Amino acid sequence: MINNSNKQFDVIIVGGGAAGLLCAVIIKSRQPEYSVAILEAQERVGKKLLTTGNGRCNLTNLFTTPQMYYGSFSKGAEYLLELCSPSMVVDLFEELGLLTYAEDDGRVYPVSKQANSVLDVLRLAADKHNINIICNSKVTDIKAKNKVFDVYCGDRVFTAQKLIVASGSKSTPSTGADDSLWHILKKMGHKVVSPVPALCPVYVESNQLKSLKGVRASAAVRILNNNKVLREESGELQFTENALSGICVFNLSRIANTEQNTEISVSLLPTKRFNEIVDILQNKKSLYNKTAKAEELLIGIFNKMLGLALIKSAGILPSKLITEITDAEIKKLASVINDWRFKVIPAKDFTRSQVTAGGVSGSEIDENNMRSKGVENLYIIGEAVDCDGDCGGMNLQFAFSSAYCAAMDVIL
Ligand SMILES: Cc1cc2nc3c(=O)[nH]c(=O)nc-3n(C[C@H](O)[C@H](O)[C@H](O)COP(=O)(O)OP(=O)(O)OC[C@H]3O[C@@H](n4cnc5c(N)ncnc54)[C@H](O)[C@@H]3O)c2cc1C
Repeated sequence: MINNSNKQFDVIIVGGGAAGLLCAVIIKSRQPEYSVAILEAQERVGKKLLTTGNGRCNLTNLFTTPQMYYGSFSKGAEYLLELCSPSMVVDLFEELGLLTYAEDDGRVYPVSKQANSVLDVLRLAADKHNINIICNSKVTDIKAKNKVFDVYCGDRVFTAQKLIVASGSKSTPSTGADDSLWHILKKMGHKVVSPVPALCPVYVESNQLKSLKGVRASAAVRILNNNKVLREESGELQFTENALSGICVFNLSRIANTEQNTEISVSLLPTKRFNEIVDILQNKKSLYNKTAKAEELLIGIFNKMLGLALIKSAGILPSKLITEITDAEIKKLASVINDWRFKVIPAKDFTRSQVTAGGVSGSEIDENNMRSKGVENLYIIGEAVDCDGDCGGMNLQFAFSSAYCAAMDVIL
């Protein structure tokens, strides 16, 4: 219910995204006499939520563990998962009327397979509980005095006894994401860890990629620093004209964008050892007639364009006759298939990142209640906090469990 004339509230939540909406609903459903408002910069709430899970919204993951979180608040994820586990998130949404199902890998989606179902049940609950959703209201300043917050949206001022910041991160600015609240929180004395794009494609140096745009392959991918493997993932690798992509790469992107001098190693036959790949290639060499060319050697194993790129990366002339490929060249090709190296170019733009590594430092927040340690009655939840998770429902799980944690403290 919109009530713009009233500007004094018990609780104001800054940001009507996943965390802010659920937090407001939990507070009002358990403490109906509280007046609660959401100040949202955009013309409507939940824009990012609609884009999640490729439009299906992967709202949590039943196999989430604390080790799947990173950043200075990541230790707090353990307590939040105990307090509000993935199955509890499922129950909370079921109470709101959302039916969900889990896939084999634990990812939970709405049965409708539509992200707007998740947003709609939150909106309907907000409506039922008379939560004031005030859109087109970008918070431009916050002043805390005499245990009251003055919250400025340009020349409009709202006041609240308790303030919950749920303003998200910088990722995917097209959904309204921006870092304005971090600047305000910094002014209020909070340490904010510099934001870096995460869960995004990894830009790499390569003159082979242009021809591979759109090609997909099963692969194991590793990120290395000085030949030391920092993390390994496997799954569907996607090539773009200047980057490696796919969920397996997304999970390496945090390291790629925060560490210096990293490389990605792609293994395109991950279940085969080097010697087995050599044997496969020798066998392939003997299969074709004398006029066959090197560019045809990998047909039947890889996408044609990918095969050609591998041949070129191994330094073999595509027009060379297969019969003339030397044993040394076969070994070089096997090593490229086994360990194709790409130098990483750390990304700085947030347009293609699903989450942001960075945000309000864990040292500023009490993990037991999501309260700011420095400013009384101020809470910080969701992606505004320096805590980002792996791909697969972990980030919405964090948004929801931190929202639950703060809400339960607010209504104490
Ligand atoms: C394309 C994409 C797909 C994703 N898919 C998944 C997925 O399937 N599963 C998953 O777990 N995670 C996914 N994520 C990540 C997930 O969406 C976020 O982690 C989550 O939305 C964070 O919730 P939040 O409430 O903290 O922030 P948000 O949902 O971003 O909400 C923050 C809100 O605050 C508002 N705001 C910002 N500044 C101000 C201000 N100054 N004044 C007023 N309002 C302000 C913003 O407009 C926004 O509405 C995806 C992200 C993207 C971009």
